[in-house]
Amino acid sequence: MTDLYCVFGNPVAHSKSPVIHAAFAGLTGHALRYEARLAPADDFAGSLCAFLAEGGKGCNITVPFKEQAWALAAVRSRRAEKAGAVNTLLAGKDGRLYGDNTDGVGLVRDLVQNAGVSLAGKRVLVLGAGGAVRGVLSPLLAEKPACLVVANRTAGKAEALAALFADEGSISGTGFTGLAGQQFDVVINGTSASLQGELPPLPADVLAPGAFAYDMMYGAQPTVFLQWAAAHGADTRDGLGMLVEQAAEAFFIWRNVRPPTAGVLAELRAALSPEQ
Ligand code: NDP
Repeated sequence: MTDLYCVFGNPVAHSKSPVIHAAFAGLTGHALRYEARLAPADDFAGSLCAFLAEGGKGCNITVPFKEQAWALAAVRSRRAEKAGAVNTLLAGKDGRLYGDNTDGVGLVRDLVQNAGVSLAGKRVLVLGAGGAVRGVLSPLLAEKPACLVVANRTAGKAEALAALFADEGSISGTGFTGLAGQQFDVVINGTSASLQGELPPLPADVLAPGAFAYDMMYGAQPTVFLQWAAAHGADTRDGLGMLVEQAAEAFFIWRNVRPPTAGVLAELRAALSPEQ
């Protein structure tokens, strides 16, 4: 029987994961089936149980079930443990459910390997303090930036996150007004402001000369944040590569093979293109 995988979400029809994993399967010569499954808002656990009973080998989890997946995992990786969210589950041969979070490693790989942006020794600013940001802080700190500042509309959430990760590197939390007079080499937008076409209230001089700006969101057009950063002289990149790289890490967890990602990213980018 062909190995079965899926992504759970609500909504889930928009998910690009089935296309990405079908491409990875083709590129690596692995025969597998990967589906998008809509779980009812109030019964993710039931949907997951049914999937496992069908022989499902592993799944991705997207909004709004990542925290529930964390709770349902019998064993969690260290990065998932700290993230408080699981986006990848593996049905272990020992009958246990293994939980991991590949979002952060996906972001770092896209920044460091795909975009060639080294984080070591850099001043890094992360905007937002929601689930996505919590998921990426461990892998970002593992790159040994000179400092990592988390800035959020609700300052207390940024301060709480910084306290949670303080044992992993130089990290502090603040509100946006606390950024006055500071400059950063790499600025990563992990707020959902881009979804509403809004720009977090950033001081114009927060970008150091030659800064790199990254938005975890992606779309056919550059986000308002990326447009703002480009207008202030920064190099920019959106989160499509993060999406592909987090999927590649999940594929590795399930299949023990690291799929090539460049062609898949290029195809997704072309499909997003407004000319099409
Ligand atoms: P959450 O709802 O958990 O957090 C939202 C965050 O955005 C909070 O910090 C919130 O601040 C802030 N925020 C919302 N609106 C505004 C605004 N108008 N101005 C300033 N700050 C604002 O969302 P997630 O963390 O789950 O997702 C954040 C983003 O990351 C989304 O755009 C999502 O698409 C993207 N993402 C991309 C991935 C990828 O693979 N490329 C993977 C995962 C996420 P406050 O605390 O004050 O409310």
